[in-house]
Amino acid sequence: MKKALVCGAGGFIGGHLVERLKSEGYWVRGVDLKEHEYRKTAADEFVVGDLRDVNVCKNVLAGGIDEVYQLAADMGGAGFVFSGENDADIMHNSALINLQIVDLAVKTGVKKLFYSSSACMYPAYNQTDPNNPKCSEDSAYPAAPDSEYGWEKLFSERLFLAFARNKGLDVRIARFHNIFGEFGTWDGGREKAPAAFCRKVAQAQDGDVIEMWGDGEQTRSFLYVSECVDGIRRLMESDFVGPVNIGSEEMVTINQMVEMIKEIANKPNITVKHIDGPLGVRGRNSDNKLIREKLGWEPKMPLMEGLKITYKWIDQEAKK
Ligand code: NAD
Repeated sequence: MKKALVCGAGGFIGGHLVERLKSEGYWVRGVDLKEHEYRKTAADEFVVGDLRDVNVCKNVLAGGIDEVYQLAADMGGAGFVFSGENDADIMHNSALINLQIVDLAVKTGVKKLFYSSSACMYPAYNQTDPNNPKCSEDSAYPAAPDSEYGWEKLFSERLFLAFARNKGLDVRIARFHNIFGEFGTWDGGREKAPAAFCRKVAQAQDGDVIEMWGDGEQTRSFLYVSECVDGIRRLMESDFVGPVNIGSEEMVTINQMVEMIKEIANKPNITVKHIDGPLGVRGRNSDNKLIREKLGWEPKMPLMEGLKITYKWIDQEAKK
């Protein structure tokens, strides 16, 4: 039985990944600062610990771990990442976790390590046109991410690749593009746009006004979490190191996404008030050419389908 360590197992994607690995027959150890907020973990062992502490890293890597899935990061949606107020924590905490995990993974003989990077590492200058953003993997340089979160991801991609070259660590790196779904943060300030708007619509009466940062004409694509987990597992089973995009190519404006959520909720008379707030780049979309070529696979689920599942869950949570 393969043994996996999931770092960030109390988080959104990590929680879904633990479920998937268990269903595939893995023995799973999870580690996180906190237990999962929304459900009981499926992990065989769950360690509540701080991966900035090297002793915690040593403990969770003990006992012959075959595969590490490194998803732990100090992160959140635009309100957390783009306000500028959390830059020092974001850079220090996430880099420290990655520095310790990569070194100890080599020392403890981990066979394969997955690292979750982000589309936030792509240069801002290629994402100014909402109708034509460029996010192909080879467009990463010259580097110019628009946030310290993106710079840290880029540094850590290079860190894992350097350990692959010099120390023989077998790594896989994916750049996630806006993952959403149930059992993820939906309030409190770290939530991302799909969850935030599901919550706002769920809590509003038909005819109410909800607020949105910016004019809503910026574009994004959103990937439903189970397809993200499919991508992680397929990448791990393949010979391709990456970095590779794991995202959807169904690009929408934020206004269009809110219209979809209103339709799902059957609240057509909700109106949107546009206010100032942290925004991020003007346009972003996944480019799936490389993943199609290397894995013979790409995500296919329409945004509307994923939003239906997510809205239903957040609506139930908001009523608790
Ligand atoms: P999340 O915040 O739900 O999960 C991250 C988890 O890491 C949290 O549960 C957090 O408590 C844990 N963590 C943070 N600092 C820690 C520490 N010092 N010690 C132990 N645990 C710690 O976020 P997520 O959406 O599940 O994201 C998972 C990974 O994917 C992150 O690396 C993130 O940067 C990356 N990513 C996510 C998205 C997305 O849209 N969700 C997009 C791009 C990249």
